[in-house]
Amino acid sequence: MNSTPSIVVATRNPGKIREIHAVLADLPVTLRSLEPFGDLPEPEETGETFADNAALKALYYAQATGHWALADDSGLQVDALGGDPGVRSARYAADRVPPTAGREQIDQANNAKLLNQLRDVPDAQRTGRFVCFIALADPRGVLVEASGTVEGCILHAPRGENGFGYDPLFYIPDLGHTTAELPAERKNAISHRGQALRAFAERLREMLAARA
Ligand code: IMP
Repeated sequence: MNSTPSIVVATRNPGKIREIHAVLADLPVTLRSLEPFGDLPEPEETGETFADNAALKALYYAQATGHWALADDSGLQVDALGGDPGVRSARYAADRVPPTAGREQIDQANNAKLLNQLRDVPDAQRTGRFVCFIALADPRGVLVEASGTVEGCILHAPRGENGFGYDPLFYIPDLGHTTAELPAERKNAISHRGQALRAFAERLREMLAARA
């Protein structure tokens, strides 16, 4: 019987940390934060896909800490923009904000650029999705991967105060709301990240059972 493995949750985003802990709570693993490992520099996200970036981050933190590491990569794909902002979602409008800009200013610039890029695109063609990939690695390679998506479309103006990033523009027709209009628990229940995490938890459970 192997001992309970430690997993370093390789994110400093408190919302993500809470969600990961909630979904993995009843698995036989010990979740650890990045805090004890000091100021590890973040790896450059050089991958062309969400899967590549999740894997490269998980592997980087596994090698840097010597533990299993869990990392995610997520973003927005808009069909009329050929899948952009895609893996560049976080820094889509990086050329339009000062390097010292905070989260809110960056999000606003990203949303303004997205609306501008879609200014001539009619409603029926404003479809897109949030995508999330999760990877777990040990220092030698990736052990478990999972993904989730949520379909929606891009409004012409922001709606709602919750969430972050592109949430105020991301409308889910079946719900009649943007993801910024949903309370956190309701968003987590349907979101790309929630789905990826639940699929990941299932696969991790199977992997742990197979090595027990
Ligand atoms: P990261 O995976 O945390 O680096 O997220 C990349 C970027 O994708 C974020 O900075 C947001 O712009 C966007 N994004 C990812 N998930 C969401 C979400 O749930 N709502 C809104 N924007 C998101």
